Amino acid sequence: MTDTNHLFAAFRAAMPALDTPLVYHPGGGQETYGDALALSGRLANLMVARGVKPGDRVAVQVEKSWTALAVYLAAVRAGAVYLPLNTAYTLPEIEYFLSDAEPALFLCRPEIETEARALAGRLGVGSVETLGSEGTGSLTEAAAGLPEDFSDVPRGPEDLGGILYTSGTTGRAKGAMLTHDNLLSNALTLRDYWRFTRDDVLIHALPIFHTHGLFVASNIILLSGARMIFCPKFDARECLALMPKATSLMGVPTFYTRLLDQSGLTREATAHMRLFVSGSAPLLAETHRAFRDRTGQAILERYGMTETGMNTSNPYDGDRRAGTVGFPLPGVSLRITSPETGAVLADDEIGSIEVKGPNVFKGYWRMPEKTASEFHDGFFITGDLGKIDGDGYVHIVGRGKDLVITGGFNVYPKEVEGEIDALPGVVESAVIGLPHKDFGEGVTAVVVKARDASLTEADIHTTLEGRLARFKLPKRVIFVDDLPRNTMGKVQKNVLRDTYKDLYRTVA
Ligand code: AMP
Repeated sequence: MTDTNHLFAAFRAAMPALDTPLVYHPGGGQETYGDALALSGRLANLMVARGVKPGDRVAVQVEKSWTALAVYLAAVRAGAVYLPLNTAYTLPEIEYFLSDAEPALFLCRPEIETEARALAGRLGVGSVETLGSEGTGSLTEAAAGLPEDFSDVPRGPEDLGGILYTSGTTGRAKGAMLTHDNLLSNALTLRDYWRFTRDDVLIHALPIFHTHGLFVASNIILLSGARMIFCPKFDARECLALMPKATSLMGVPTFYTRLLDQSGLTREATAHMRLFVSGSAPLLAETHRAFRDRTGQAILERYGMTETGMNTSNPYDGDRRAGTVGFPLPGVSLRITSPETGAVLADDEIGSIEVKGPNVFKGYWRMPEKTASEFHDGFFITGDLGKIDGDGYVHIVGRGKDLVITGGFNVYPKEVEGEIDALPGVVESAVIGLPHKDFGEGVTAVVVKARDASLTEADIHTTLEGRLARFKLPKRVIFVDDLPRNTMGKVQKNVLRDTYKDLYRTVA
Protein backbone atom coordinates (compact mmCIF):
# COMPACT_ATOMS: atom_id res chain seq x y z
CA MET A 1 0.00 0.00 0.00
CA THR A 2 1.49 3.25 -1.07
CA ASP A 3 1.02 6.39 0.99
CA THR A 4 2.52 9.00 -1.32
CA ASN A 5 1.64 10.35 -4.73
CA HIS A 6 4.52 8.94 -6.78
CA LEU A 7 4.85 11.78 -9.28
CA PHE A 8 3.79 14.72 -7.17
CA ALA A 9 5.97 13.65 -4.24
CA ALA A 10 8.93 13.90 -6.62
CA PHE A 11 7.82 17.39 -7.72
CA ARG A 12 7.59 18.40 -4.06
CA ALA A 13 10.99 16.96 -3.26
CA ALA A 14 12.58 18.97 -6.07
CA MET A 15 10.89 22.26 -5.17
CA PRO A 16 13.09 25.25 -4.39
CA ALA A 17 12.03 27.99 -1.92
CA LEU A 18 8.36 28.67 -2.55
CA ASP A 19 8.96 32.26 -3.57
CA THR A 20 11.11 31.09 -6.50
CA PRO A 21 9.48 31.74 -9.87
CA LEU A 22 8.28 28.68 -11.80
CA VAL A 23 6.68 30.50 -14.72
CA TYR A 24 7.54 33.84 -16.27
CA HIS A 25 4.94 35.35 -18.58
CA PRO A 26 6.67 36.62 -21.72
CA GLY A 27 4.83 39.95 -21.45
CA GLY A 28 5.87 40.40 -17.78
CA GLY A 29 4.75 38.96 -14.48
CA GLN A 30 5.48 35.61 -12.92
CA GLU A 31 4.06 32.72 -10.89
CA THR A 32 6.07 31.11 -8.12
CA TYR A 33 6.32 27.53 -6.94
CA GLY A 34 4.17 28.62 -4.01
CA ASP A 35 1.54 29.91 -6.45
CA ALA A 36 1.63 26.56 -8.24
CA LEU A 37 0.99 24.72 -4.98
CA ALA A 38 -1.81 27.09 -3.98
CA LEU A 39 -3.64 27.11 -7.33
CA SER A 40 -3.28 23.38 -7.95
CA GLY A 41 -4.48 22.78 -4.37
CA ARG A 42 -7.65 24.80 -4.96
CA LEU A 43 -8.22 23.11 -8.31
CA ALA A 44 -7.68 19.66 -6.81
CA ASN A 45 -10.25 20.48 -4.12
CA LEU A 46 -12.64 21.52 -6.88
CA MET A 47 -12.07 18.30 -8.80
CA VAL A 48 -12.88 16.26 -5.72
CA ALA A 49 -15.97 18.40 -5.10
CA ARG A 50 -17.07 17.70 -8.67
CA GLY A 51 -16.88 13.97 -8.00
CA VAL A 52 -13.47 13.15 -9.46
CA LYS A 53 -12.22 10.00 -7.74
CA PRO A 54 -8.78 8.36 -7.93
CA GLY A 55 -8.34 6.79 -11.35
CA ASP A 56 -11.04 8.94 -12.97
CA ARG A 57 -10.13 10.71 -16.17
CA VAL A 58 -10.06 14.50 -16.35
CA ALA A 59 -10.32 15.53 -20.01
CA VAL A 60 -9.01 18.97 -20.89
CA GLN A 61 -9.23 20.90 -24.14
CA VAL A 62 -8.11 24.45 -23.41
CA GLU A 63 -5.61 27.00 -24.70
CA LYS A 64 -2.15 26.92 -23.22
CA SER A 65 -1.93 29.03 -20.07
CA TRP A 66 -0.38 29.01 -16.64
CA THR A 67 -3.76 27.99 -15.21
CA ALA A 68 -3.90 25.03 -17.61
CA LEU A 69 -0.53 23.92 -16.25
CA ALA A 70 -1.95 24.13 -12.72
CA VAL A 71 -4.91 21.98 -13.85
CA TYR A 72 -2.45 19.28 -14.85
CA LEU A 73 -0.80 19.44 -11.42
CA ALA A 74 -4.20 19.40 -9.73
CA ALA A 75 -5.25 16.29 -11.64
CA VAL A 76 -2.06 14.51 -10.58
CA ARG A 77 -2.58 15.56 -6.94
CA ALA A 78 -6.21 14.43 -7.00
CA GLY A 79 -5.08 10.99 -8.20
CA ALA A 80 -6.88 11.49 -11.50
CA VAL A 81 -5.72 10.53 -14.97
CA TYR A 82 -4.92 13.68 -16.92
CA LEU A 83 -6.19 13.58 -20.48
CA PRO A 84 -5.22 16.63 -22.54
CA LEU A 85 -6.72 17.11 -26.00
CA ASN A 86 -5.31 19.01 -28.95
CA THR A 87 -7.10 22.35 -29.24
CA ALA A 88 -7.51 21.70 -32.97
CA TYR A 89 -9.91 18.79 -32.38
CA THR A 90 -13.44 19.40 -33.63
CA LEU A 91 -16.66 18.53 -31.79
CA PRO A 92 -17.15 15.15 -33.52
CA GLU A 93 -13.58 14.25 -32.56
CA ILE A 94 -14.17 15.35 -28.97
CA GLU A 95 -17.28 13.23 -28.92
CA TYR A 96 -15.16 10.20 -29.75
CA PHE A 97 -12.61 10.96 -27.02
CA LEU A 98 -15.25 11.59 -24.37
CA SER A 99 -17.18 8.45 -25.21
CA ASP A 100 -13.99 6.38 -25.28
CA ALA A 101 -12.37 7.75 -22.11
CA GLU A 102 -15.55 8.40 -20.08
CA PRO A 103 -14.04 11.22 -18.02
CA ALA A 104 -15.60 12.41 -14.78
CA LEU A 105 -14.84 16.02 -15.73
CA PHE A 106 -14.44 17.79 -19.04
CA LEU A 107 -12.70 21.14 -18.98
CA CYS A 108 -13.32 23.04 -22.21
CA ARG A 109 -12.88 26.46 -23.80
CA PRO A 110 -15.70 28.89 -22.99
CA GLU A 111 -16.48 29.16 -26.74
CA ILE A 112 -17.80 25.59 -26.90
CA GLU A 113 -19.48 25.45 -23.51
CA THR A 114 -23.01 24.96 -24.86
CA GLU A 115 -22.02 22.16 -27.22
CA ALA A 116 -19.77 20.59 -24.59
CA ARG A 117 -22.59 20.50 -22.04
CA ALA A 118 -24.92 18.90 -24.57
CA LEU A 119 -22.29 16.28 -25.41
CA ALA A 120 -21.52 15.62 -21.75
CA GLY A 121 -25.21 15.17 -20.99
CA ARG A 122 -25.57 12.67 -23.80
CA LEU A 123 -22.42 10.74 -22.89
CA GLY A 124 -22.84 10.77 -19.12
CA VAL A 125 -19.75 12.91 -18.39
CA GLY A 126 -20.19 14.00 -14.75
CA SER A 127 -19.38 17.68 -15.03
CA VAL A 128 -18.18 20.38 -17.39
CA GLU A 129 -16.16 23.48 -16.53
CA THR A 130 -14.68 26.19 -18.73
CA LEU A 131 -11.30 27.86 -18.86
CA GLY A 132 -10.33 30.70 -21.20
CA SER A 133 -6.83 31.62 -22.27
CA GLU A 134 -6.65 34.42 -19.69
CA GLY A 135 -7.46 32.09 -16.81
CA THR A 136 -11.11 33.14 -16.63
CA GLY A 137 -14.09 30.78 -16.76
CA SER A 138 -16.27 28.67 -14.50
CA LEU A 139 -13.29 26.62 -13.31
CA THR A 140 -11.35 29.43 -11.69
CA GLU A 141 -14.53 31.11 -10.41
CA ALA A 142 -15.58 27.92 -8.64
CA ALA A 143 -12.08 27.22 -7.33
CA ALA A 144 -11.51 30.74 -6.01
CA GLY A 145 -13.37 30.14 -2.75
CA LEU A 146 -11.81 26.76 -2.02
CA PRO A 147 -8.88 26.12 0.31
CA GLU A 148 -5.38 25.83 -1.14
CA ASP A 149 -4.49 23.03 1.22
CA PHE A 150 -4.97 19.64 -0.30
CA SER A 151 -3.55 16.35 0.80
CA ASP A 152 -2.26 14.62 -2.30
CA VAL A 153 -4.08 11.41 -3.12
CA PRO A 154 -1.69 8.45 -2.80
CA ARG A 155 -0.76 6.90 -6.14
CA GLY A 156 1.75 4.13 -6.78
CA PRO A 157 4.28 3.88 -9.58
CA GLU A 158 1.99 1.68 -11.68
CA ASP A 159 -1.11 3.87 -11.34
CA LEU A 160 -2.08 5.90 -14.37
CA GLY A 161 -1.05 9.54 -14.44
CA GLY A 162 -2.12 10.39 -17.96
CA ILE A 163 -3.72 9.23 -21.16
CA LEU A 164 -2.58 10.82 -24.40
CA TYR A 165 -4.38 9.99 -27.60
CA THR A 166 -1.91 9.29 -30.36
CA SER A 167 -2.06 11.58 -33.32
CA GLY A 168 -2.95 8.34 -35.20
CA THR A 169 -3.03 9.04 -38.91
CA THR A 170 -4.79 5.77 -39.66
CA GLY A 171 -7.68 4.08 -37.87
CA ARG A 172 -9.15 5.13 -34.54
CA ALA A 173 -7.05 7.30 -32.26
CA LYS A 174 -5.71 5.21 -29.42
CA GLY A 175 -5.34 6.37 -25.81
CA ALA A 176 -1.81 5.66 -24.59
CA MET A 177 -1.93 4.90 -20.85
CA LEU A 178 1.08 6.36 -19.04
CA THR A 179 1.80 5.47 -15.44
CA HIS A 180 3.20 7.73 -12.74
CA ASP A 181 6.50 5.91 -13.08
CA ASN A 182 6.57 6.15 -16.89
CA LEU A 183 6.38 9.91 -16.50
CA LEU A 184 8.66 10.24 -13.51
CA SER A 185 11.43 7.89 -14.63
CA ASN A 186 11.65 9.42 -18.09
CA ALA A 187 11.72 13.02 -16.88
CA LEU A 188 14.37 12.23 -14.23
CA THR A 189 16.54 10.50 -16.82
CA LEU A 190 16.25 13.46 -19.19
CA ARG A 191 16.87 15.99 -16.44
CA ASP A 192 20.16 14.32 -15.63
CA TYR A 193 21.14 13.52 -19.24
CA TRP A 194 20.55 17.09 -20.34
CA ARG A 195 21.95 18.52 -17.06
CA PHE A 196 18.97 20.59 -15.96
CA THR A 197 19.44 22.36 -12.63
CA ARG A 198 17.82 25.15 -10.64
CA ASP A 199 19.83 27.63 -12.69
CA ASP A 200 17.93 26.82 -15.86
CA VAL A 201 15.34 28.97 -17.58
CA LEU A 202 13.57 27.15 -20.40
CA ILE A 203 11.79 28.91 -23.24
CA HIS A 204 8.60 26.86 -23.23
CA ALA A 205 6.84 27.51 -26.54
CA LEU A 206 5.39 24.04 -27.19
CA PRO A 207 1.74 23.11 -26.71
CA ILE A 208 0.97 21.35 -23.42
CA PHE A 209 -1.49 18.81 -24.84
CA HIS A 210 1.38 16.75 -26.28
CA THR A 211 4.07 14.63 -24.64
CA HIS A 212 6.88 16.99 -25.70
CA GLY A 213 5.57 20.16 -24.06
CA LEU A 214 3.89 18.49 -21.09
CA PHE A 215 5.75 15.39 -20.03
CA VAL A 216 9.18 16.31 -21.33
CA ALA A 217 9.45 20.08 -20.96
CA SER A 218 7.19 20.83 -17.97
CA ASN A 219 8.06 17.73 -15.95
CA ILE A 220 11.80 18.27 -16.39
CA ILE A 221 11.52 21.86 -15.18
CA LEU A 222 9.44 20.82 -12.16
CA LEU A 223 11.90 18.06 -11.30
CA SER A 224 14.83 20.47 -11.57
CA GLY A 225 13.28 23.22 -9.48
CA ALA A 226 14.01 25.39 -12.53
CA ARG A 227 12.04 28.14 -14.26
CA MET A 228 10.36 28.52 -17.61
CA ILE A 229 9.18 31.38 -19.80
CA PHE A 230 5.74 30.14 -20.75
CA CYS A 231 4.86 31.36 -24.26
CA PRO A 232 1.30 30.72 -25.46
CA LYS A 233 2.75 29.77 -28.84
CA PHE A 234 6.02 29.84 -30.72
CA ASP A 235 7.02 33.09 -32.38
CA ALA A 236 10.56 33.13 -33.76
CA ARG A 237 11.12 36.82 -33.17
CA GLU A 238 9.88 36.64 -29.56
CA CYS A 239 11.87 33.48 -28.93
CA LEU A 240 15.05 35.12 -30.12
CA ALA A 241 14.39 38.18 -27.97
CA LEU A 242 13.97 35.95 -24.90
CA MET A 243 17.25 34.09 -25.34
CA PRO A 244 19.43 36.50 -23.32
CA LYS A 245 17.22 35.71 -20.30
CA ALA A 246 17.04 31.96 -20.91
CA THR A 247 19.31 28.93 -20.94
CA SER A 248 17.46 26.39 -23.04
CA LEU A 249 14.84 25.76 -25.70
CA MET A 250 12.92 22.61 -26.56
CA GLY A 251 11.43 22.69 -30.00
CA VAL A 252 10.20 20.89 -33.05
CA PRO A 253 12.27 21.27 -36.23
CA THR A 254 10.10 24.11 -37.55
CA PHE A 255 11.17 26.24 -34.56
CA TYR A 256 14.73 25.99 -35.83
CA THR A 257 13.99 26.66 -39.49
CA ARG A 258 11.98 29.73 -38.44
CA LEU A 259 14.75 30.91 -36.14
CA LEU A 260 17.17 30.58 -39.05
CA ASP A 261 14.95 32.99 -41.01
CA GLN A 262 15.67 35.64 -38.37
CA SER A 263 18.66 37.77 -39.32
CA GLY A 264 19.26 38.39 -35.61
CA LEU A 265 20.13 34.75 -34.96
CA THR A 266 23.83 35.02 -34.17
CA ARG A 267 26.46 33.73 -31.78
CA GLU A 268 25.93 36.78 -29.57
CA ALA A 269 22.13 36.47 -29.52
CA THR A 270 22.37 32.85 -28.36
CA ALA A 271 25.38 33.26 -26.07
CA HIS A 272 23.33 32.86 -22.88
CA MET A 273 21.73 29.62 -24.09
CA ARG A 274 23.36 26.32 -23.14
CA LEU A 275 21.01 23.86 -24.84
CA PHE A 276 18.79 23.62 -27.91
CA VAL A 277 16.76 20.39 -28.11
CA SER A 278 14.84 19.22 -31.16
CA GLY A 279 12.41 16.36 -31.59
CA SER A 280 8.93 15.11 -32.53
CA ALA A 281 9.86 15.13 -36.21
CA PRO A 282 13.09 14.72 -38.15
CA LEU A 283 15.51 17.63 -38.10
CA LEU A 284 17.16 18.07 -41.50
CA ALA A 285 20.93 17.64 -41.31
CA GLU A 286 21.11 20.89 -43.24
CA THR A 287 19.18 22.75 -40.50
CA HIS A 288 21.54 21.32 -37.89
CA ARG A 289 24.55 22.55 -39.86
CA ALA A 290 23.10 25.96 -40.66
CA PHE A 291 22.22 26.51 -36.98
CA ARG A 292 25.71 25.54 -35.93
CA ASP A 293 27.27 27.88 -38.50
CA ARG A 294 25.18 30.81 -37.31
CA THR A 295 25.30 30.25 -33.54
CA GLY A 296 28.19 27.90 -32.81
CA GLN A 297 25.70 25.62 -31.03
CA ALA A 298 24.88 22.04 -32.01
CA ILE A 299 21.18 21.29 -31.70
CA LEU A 300 20.66 18.18 -29.59
CA GLU A 301 18.22 15.88 -31.38
CA ARG A 302 16.28 13.26 -29.48
CA TYR A 303 13.65 10.69 -30.40
CA GLY A 304 10.49 9.71 -28.61
CA MET A 305 6.81 9.16 -28.97
CA THR A 306 3.55 9.40 -27.08
CA GLU A 307 3.62 5.74 -26.05
CA THR A 308 7.17 5.74 -24.74
CA GLY A 309 8.23 9.22 -23.79
CA MET A 310 11.82 9.72 -24.88
CA ASN A 311 13.88 6.77 -26.10
CA THR A 312 17.13 8.16 -27.43
CA SER A 313 19.15 11.33 -27.29
CA ASN A 314 22.30 12.72 -28.76
CA PRO A 315 24.93 13.16 -26.07
CA TYR A 316 25.23 16.25 -23.91
CA ASP A 317 29.01 16.06 -24.08
CA GLY A 318 30.38 14.56 -27.22
CA ASP A 319 29.38 14.51 -30.83
CA ARG A 320 25.77 15.54 -31.56
CA ARG A 321 25.50 14.05 -35.02
CA ALA A 322 23.24 15.68 -37.56
CA GLY A 323 20.70 13.27 -39.04
CA THR A 324 20.85 10.91 -36.05
CA VAL A 325 18.84 10.72 -32.85
CA GLY A 326 21.78 9.63 -30.71
CA PHE A 327 21.98 6.76 -28.23
CA PRO A 328 19.34 4.88 -26.23
CA LEU A 329 18.80 6.72 -22.93
CA PRO A 330 20.03 5.08 -19.71
CA GLY A 331 17.60 2.28 -18.82
CA VAL A 332 16.14 2.05 -22.33
CA SER A 333 16.90 -0.97 -24.52
CA LEU A 334 16.53 -0.38 -28.23
CA ARG A 335 16.90 -2.96 -30.96
CA ILE A 336 16.32 -3.24 -34.70
CA THR A 337 14.41 -6.25 -35.96
CA SER A 338 13.43 -7.62 -39.31
CA PRO A 339 9.83 -6.65 -40.12
CA GLU A 340 9.46 -10.01 -41.90
CA THR A 341 11.04 -12.50 -39.47
CA GLY A 342 11.30 -10.58 -36.21
CA ALA A 343 15.00 -11.49 -35.93
CA VAL A 344 17.33 -8.94 -34.35
CA LEU A 345 19.40 -7.29 -37.09
CA ALA A 346 23.08 -6.36 -37.16
CA ASP A 347 24.55 -2.84 -37.16
CA ASP A 348 23.67 -0.72 -40.17
CA GLU A 349 20.77 -2.94 -41.23
CA ILE A 350 17.43 -1.17 -41.55
CA GLY A 351 14.45 -2.61 -39.73
CA SER A 352 11.76 -1.99 -37.10
CA ILE A 353 12.76 0.00 -34.05
CA GLU A 354 11.66 -1.74 -30.84
CA VAL A 355 12.11 -0.40 -27.32
CA LYS A 356 11.84 -1.60 -23.74
CA GLY A 357 12.26 0.26 -20.46
CA PRO A 358 10.54 2.02 -17.57
CA ASN A 359 9.41 4.69 -20.03
CA VAL A 360 7.26 2.34 -22.11
CA PHE A 361 3.52 2.79 -21.59
CA LYS A 362 1.11 0.35 -19.99
CA GLY A 363 -0.99 -0.17 -23.11
CA TYR A 364 -3.79 1.37 -25.13
CA TRP A 365 -6.88 2.34 -23.18
CA ARG A 366 -9.49 -0.40 -23.51
CA MET A 367 -7.68 -2.05 -26.42
CA PRO A 368 -5.98 -5.11 -24.92
CA GLU A 369 -5.69 -6.92 -28.24
CA LYS A 370 -4.22 -3.93 -30.04
CA THR A 371 -1.78 -3.52 -27.13
CA ALA A 372 -0.70 -7.15 -27.27
CA SER A 373 -0.13 -6.98 -31.01
CA GLU A 374 2.22 -4.00 -30.64
CA PHE A 375 4.63 -5.82 -28.33
CA HIS A 376 7.25 -8.34 -29.43
CA ASP A 377 8.95 -10.37 -26.66
CA GLY A 378 8.43 -7.54 -24.19
CA PHE A 379 9.62 -4.85 -26.60
CA PHE A 380 7.24 -2.19 -27.93
CA ILE A 381 7.16 -2.03 -31.72
CA THR A 382 7.44 1.69 -32.33
CA GLY A 383 6.34 1.59 -35.97
CA ASP A 384 9.45 3.54 -36.91
CA LEU A 385 12.10 2.15 -39.22
CA GLY A 386 15.73 2.76 -38.52
CA LYS A 387 19.20 1.43 -37.96
CA ILE A 388 22.03 1.61 -35.44
CA ASP A 389 25.38 2.56 -36.94
CA GLY A 390 28.78 1.18 -36.00
CA ASP A 391 29.26 3.97 -33.43
CA GLY A 392 25.95 3.19 -31.73
CA TYR A 393 24.00 6.19 -33.06
CA VAL A 394 20.38 5.50 -33.94
CA HIS A 395 19.10 6.72 -37.31
CA ILE A 396 15.42 7.00 -38.17
CA VAL A 397 14.57 6.17 -41.72
CA GLY A 398 10.83 6.80 -41.58
CA ARG A 399 7.54 5.48 -40.32
CA GLY A 400 6.83 1.85 -41.24
CA LYS A 401 3.61 2.90 -42.86
CA ASP A 402 5.41 5.48 -44.98
CA LEU A 403 7.62 2.83 -46.55
CA VAL A 404 6.97 2.73 -50.29
CA ILE A 405 6.82 -0.66 -51.95
CA THR A 406 7.15 -0.29 -55.68
CA GLY A 407 7.33 -3.28 -57.98
CA GLY A 408 8.16 -5.39 -54.92
CA PHE A 409 11.11 -3.21 -53.92
CA ASN A 410 11.25 -1.28 -50.65
CA VAL A 411 11.98 2.41 -50.94
CA TYR A 412 12.75 4.33 -47.76
CA PRO A 413 11.40 7.83 -48.33
CA LYS A 414 14.12 9.48 -46.29
CA GLU A 415 16.85 8.29 -48.63
CA VAL A 416 15.14 9.84 -51.67
CA GLU A 417 14.19 12.97 -49.71
CA GLY A 418 17.82 13.38 -48.68
CA GLU A 419 18.96 13.40 -52.32
CA ILE A 420 16.24 15.83 -53.38
CA ASP A 421 16.80 18.16 -50.42
CA ALA A 422 20.47 18.40 -51.33
CA LEU A 423 19.66 19.87 -54.76
CA PRO A 424 20.17 23.62 -55.11
CA GLY A 425 16.84 25.43 -55.10
CA VAL A 426 15.03 22.81 -53.00
CA VAL A 427 13.69 23.88 -49.60
CA GLU A 428 12.30 20.49 -48.57
CA SER A 429 10.53 17.45 -49.92
CA ALA A 430 8.27 14.58 -48.96
CA VAL A 431 8.40 11.28 -50.78
CA ILE A 432 5.25 9.15 -50.76
CA GLY A 433 3.86 6.08 -52.46
CA LEU A 434 0.69 6.45 -54.53
CA PRO A 435 -1.49 3.67 -55.95
CA HIS A 436 -0.10 2.54 -59.30
CA LYS A 437 -1.53 -0.20 -61.51
CA ASP A 438 1.78 -1.67 -62.62
CA PHE A 439 3.98 -1.05 -59.63
CA GLY A 440 1.54 -1.28 -56.73
CA GLU A 441 2.85 2.05 -55.55
CA GLY A 442 4.57 4.76 -57.54
CA VAL A 443 7.35 6.72 -55.84
CA THR A 444 6.25 10.35 -55.85
CA ALA A 445 8.10 13.44 -54.68
CA VAL A 446 6.30 16.49 -53.37
CA VAL A 447 8.78 19.35 -53.41
CA VAL A 448 8.91 22.88 -52.04
CA LYS A 449 11.37 24.96 -54.02
CA ALA A 450 12.97 28.26 -53.13
CA ARG A 451 11.06 31.31 -54.31
CA ASP A 452 13.47 32.21 -57.10
CA ALA A 453 14.49 28.67 -58.12
CA SER A 454 13.84 27.62 -61.70
CA LEU A 455 14.06 23.91 -60.98
CA THR A 456 11.84 21.61 -63.08
CA GLU A 457 10.61 18.05 -62.76
CA ALA A 458 13.02 17.03 -65.51
CA ASP A 459 15.98 18.60 -63.65
CA ILE A 460 15.22 16.55 -60.58
CA HIS A 461 14.91 13.36 -62.63
CA THR A 462 18.17 13.95 -64.44
CA THR A 463 20.14 14.70 -61.30
CA LEU A 464 18.80 11.79 -59.30
CA GLU A 465 19.27 9.28 -62.11
CA GLY A 466 22.94 8.79 -61.43
CA ARG A 467 22.53 8.74 -57.67
CA LEU A 468 19.71 6.36 -56.90
CA ALA A 469 18.70 2.95 -58.15
CA ARG A 470 16.09 3.23 -60.91
CA PHE A 471 13.27 1.83 -58.79
CA LYS A 472 13.82 4.58 -56.21
CA LEU A 473 13.45 7.43 -58.69
CA PRO A 474 10.27 9.44 -58.32
CA LYS A 475 7.90 8.70 -61.17
CA ARG A 476 6.45 12.15 -60.76
CA VAL A 477 7.52 15.34 -58.98
CA ILE A 478 4.84 17.70 -57.71
CA PHE A 479 5.78 21.26 -56.73
CA VAL A 480 3.89 22.86 -53.84
CA ASP A 481 4.23 26.06 -51.81
CA ASP A 482 4.21 24.29 -48.43
CA LEU A 483 4.03 20.77 -47.07
CA PRO A 484 1.01 20.08 -44.84
CA ARG A 485 2.10 19.81 -41.20
CA ASN A 486 0.32 19.05 -37.95
CA THR A 487 0.74 21.19 -34.84
CA MET A 488 3.88 19.29 -33.82
CA GLY A 489 5.53 20.12 -37.13
CA LYS A 490 5.20 16.62 -38.57
CA VAL A 491 4.65 16.42 -42.30
CA GLN A 492 1.25 14.84 -42.85
CA LYS A 493 2.04 12.30 -45.52
CA ASN A 494 -1.45 10.86 -45.20
CA VAL A 495 -2.83 14.22 -46.37
CA LEU A 496 -0.48 14.18 -49.35
CA ARG A 497 -1.37 10.57 -50.17
CA ASP A 498 -5.01 11.49 -50.08
CA THR A 499 -4.65 14.65 -52.16
CA TYR A 500 -2.75 12.93 -54.98
CA LYS A 501 -4.28 9.46 -54.75
CA ASP A 502 -5.48 9.51 -58.37
CA LEU A 503 -2.22 10.76 -59.86
CA TYR A 504 -1.35 7.49 -61.61
CA ARG A 505 -4.90 6.37 -62.26
CA THR A 506 -4.79 8.02 -65.65
CA VAL A 507 -1.21 7.23 -66.57
CA ALA A 508 -1.02 3.66 -65.30
P1 AMP B 1 4.17 11.45 -31.27
O1 AMP B 1 3.60 10.23 -30.66
O2 AMP B 1 3.14 12.41 -31.79
O3 AMP B 1 5.15 12.12 -30.36
O4 AMP B 1 4.98 11.00 -32.57
C1 AMP B 1 6.04 10.10 -32.42
C2 AMP B 1 6.72 9.90 -33.74
O5 AMP B 1 7.39 11.09 -34.15
C3 AMP B 1 7.80 8.86 -33.68
O6 AMP B 1 7.28 7.55 -33.72
C4 AMP B 1 8.64 9.23 -34.87
O7 AMP B 1 8.06 8.73 -36.07
C5 AMP B 1 8.54 10.75 -34.89
N1 AMP B 1 9.71 11.36 -34.26
C6 AMP B 1 9.87 11.83 -33.00
N2 AMP B 1 11.10 12.34 -32.82
C7 AMP B 1 11.75 12.20 -33.99
C8 AMP B 1 13.06 12.54 -34.48
N3 AMP B 1 13.94 13.15 -33.71
N4 AMP B 1 13.36 12.21 -35.75
C9 AMP B 1 12.46 11.60 -36.55
N5 AMP B 1 11.23 11.27 -36.17
C10 AMP B 1 10.87 11.56 -34.91
